[in-house]
Amino acid sequence: MNMTPSRAVILVRISDDKAGDAQGVGRQEEDCRSLAQRLGWTVAQVVTENDTSAYKRKRIKLPDGTSVLRTVRPRFRYVLDGLASGEFDGLIAYDLDRVARDMRDLEDLVDVVQSGYPHLPVESVSGSLRLANSSDIAMARVMTVMANKSSSDTGRRVARKHEELAAAGKPGGGGFRGYGYDVRNLEIVPEEAEIVREIAGRILDDESLNAIAADLQAREVPTVTGAPWNSRSVKSIVTKPRVAGLRAHRGDVVGDAVWPPILDRGQWEDVCARLAGRVRNVDLTLQRWLTGVLVCSKCGRTMPGAQGNNGVRYWCATPRGGCGKIAIKAEPVEAEIERRVLEGLSGPQVLEQLRHAATTEATDDARRSLAEDEQQLKELAGMWARKQVSLAEYREARSLIEARVKDSRAFVTSRAPRVLRRLLAGDIHEGWHALTPADKREVVIALGGMWRVMPHDRSKGNKFNPARLVPIEAGEQPPASA
Ligand SMILES: [Zn+2]
Repeated sequence: MNMTPSRAVILVRISDDKAGDAQGVGRQEEDCRSLAQRLGWTVAQVVTENDTSAYKRKRIKLPDGTSVLRTVRPRFRYVLDGLASGEFDGLIAYDLDRVARDMRDLEDLVDVVQSGYPHLPVESVSGSLRLANSSDIAMARVMTVMANKSSSDTGRRVARKHEELAAAGKPGGGGFRGYGYDVRNLEIVPEEAEIVREIAGRILDDESLNAIAADLQAREVPTVTGAPWNSRSVKSIVTKPRVAGLRAHRGDVVGDAVWPPILDRGQWEDVCARLAGRVRNVDLTLQRWLTGVLVCSKCGRTMPGAQGNNGVRYWCATPRGGCGKIAIKAEPVEAEIERRVLEGLSGPQVLEQLRHAATTEATDDARRSLAEDEQQLKELAGMWARKQVSLAEYREARSLIEARVKDSRAFVTSRAPRVLRRLLAGDIHEGWHALTPADKREVVIALGGMWRVMPHDRSKGNKFNPARLVPIEAGEQPPASA
């Protein structure tokens, strides 16, 4: 029998009573409501628990005259009563630890849920709260007991906070400052802003990043970290959306920032465009992007590319601990792998598979949930060691978490990196030729491509023999690093 709640209750709460958290509660409600909508539930009421007293234990007097310490949560009790009386017929919460941090709370909720027939449905946005069967309940008990579960809760809240700050154009915080701005990333540091403008000007005058870095280093211009200037730091400083007064979140510009710009928007865009153009003008064929991709068939080490006596080659280099016995000319092997990669990328099956996977959101979620699950496994082992859970509970919870970890790990690793997604979004051949050597390598590795290089058969003459490249199957012993 299927029961879709028509009088569901949403319970939102926040752990701290700091300023701005009311906004956080708002986001929780929003998430809970969209979950209800997805599930087809009708929401009767939203109950907000946003006072810190929810966590405080108070001494109360029981009817028999004894006094005990209890967490006092009137709003939570109100929800339980409503569920027990039938006023509400389903519960949606943001997360398990927002519902029950105390074992007693959880047991009361379990009682109410089980008293319904069928069980009252309970759902949570984070997916951690499920009380549908006995293993869900065992899992919920273990998670509630977990003393330091709050740490991952804090992490999630911080991530949410970051999104809110980004949306408002405010700095993300995090304790480090961007070049050109003060520690709060709000005010301009004039002497650094001068350097940013100087760098921008010199780039637009076609000076190389290396030359600019060397000059700043020679003038002993300080960096934020004290590390020496290099082409990467020079580039990074002028291309950050921050210097144009733009707020970025996860690599994308999300809007105007609350801080003042150092470069005007047009100049910043010119600088970025100029630098992007420069990358394309570099002769990429001279750079060895198969380093880390080719493996020596004799000793199993990776073969770095370098200039040899007879031209550029990949060699199982003895100075790096290799056997020295296998070498292959760079140009033909690169052309051959490129051909195989492009063929693979153009195949309808691979494309379909990778395109399907091309959502950052899903990947980030999977990554986050993987990290949380792995952390929980660790905590769980610790709890068992401290005898806070029984062996049976430990085993049950562990098998549940492990199954999830397996799923999300497979998910995360199968996800294409950004560069691959970008490549697939446009003309693949054109895109490929515009990639930097490092990006090419990332694409090859993301596709799972590594090749064993077989010895050169002299009887076949000096010609390049593609048969020397044998794909290494997934799941094979990984190569020793050179
Ligand atoms: Zn070797």
